[in-house]
Amino acid sequence: MIPPIASRFVAGESPAEALDHVHRVNQRNVRAIINLLGEHYDERPAVRSDAAEYRALAGDIAGSNLDASISVKPSQLGLDLGEDVFREELESIVAAAADHDVFVWIDMEDHTTTDATLDAYEDLAREYGSERSPSDHGFGVGVCVQANLKRTRDDVQRLADVPGKVRFVKGAYDEPAEIAYKETERVNQEYEHLLEYAFEEFEGGIAVGSHDPRMIDHARALYDEHGTDFEIQMLMGVRDDAQYELAEEYEVWQYVPYGGRWKSYFYRRAMERKENLRFALRAILGR
Ligand code: FAD
Repeated sequence: MIPPIASRFVAGESPAEALDHVHRVNQRNVRAIINLLGEHYDERPAVRSDAAEYRALAGDIAGSNLDASISVKPSQLGLDLGEDVFREELESIVAAAADHDVFVWIDMEDHTTTDATLDAYEDLAREYGSERSPSDHGFGVGVCVQANLKRTRDDVQRLADVPGKVRFVKGAYDEPAEIAYKETERVNQEYEHLLEYAFEEFEGGIAVGSHDPRMIDHARALYDEHGTDFEIQMLMGVRDDAQYELAEEYEVWQYVPYGGRWKSYFYRRAMERKENLRFALRAILGR
């Protein structure tokens, strides 16, 4: 069982607990992106097991009438074992999700995985892609791109006419300076530039994956200027109040992680900001 201290950031260990959480956020007009925690598997059984759980989850989402999609990690689906393994498992999940009208996001991991991830995304999006429309919550595929990588401007141009969605994030991995911007302000500017390009060139399907009020305000201003549909995505437990407030006006999705491998995810969340650590300590001390 997950201790109360971690339950702000992780929905539980079982799919049922994750779906319960989704039910609660759906009631407040926030949709959910469910992620089974797991990464860097070096053995096929772990890959097969998580892929099977995702396929079952797609059925559970459809069966319970929840407003939810799923998000998978390439290395969870066997990318470390080979691109063919990753593609086979990913396609099995996307096909099952399509049968249930459930959308599948592909998270982006470190720069060594970018090409394989974008190639798999593009092929599947062309096969299963949905129209870029905010009212279309049905099946389709989306991918994440990272503003800290210097290559991302080119990648986003390539993705402009692919029939899927693109989640813009700043980038969570510590990448080498030759290929990545290292200064916070430079990454922020790049993020803003990527959004400007997307709002001008995309027909929709823009996901702003950020808690940063500056980035969200920028997206809102671009929406007012161009009218291109977009959604806001934030992590469970981070700026929850802002999520509910924004959901009164915009489409908001909460990324909801669950599963037995919650410890390292919780540790990352607790360590990345002082407020999160303070929250965790207060929970331990019971005040
Ligand atoms: P930051 O740059 O961390 O902070 C900027 C400002 O945002 C802060 O000054 C503060 O005002 C506000 N803020 C940020 N955090 C908090 C907080 N805890 N409490 C209160 N205010 C806060 N990265 C990947 O590399 N690959 C992925 O696939 C990926 N998927 C993601 C999916 C979602 C839905 C989200 C939200 C993030 C994802 N990320 C992913 C992580 C992302 O790359 C960033 O590392 C992370 O979001 C931190 O950047 P930020 O834009 O949220 O804000």
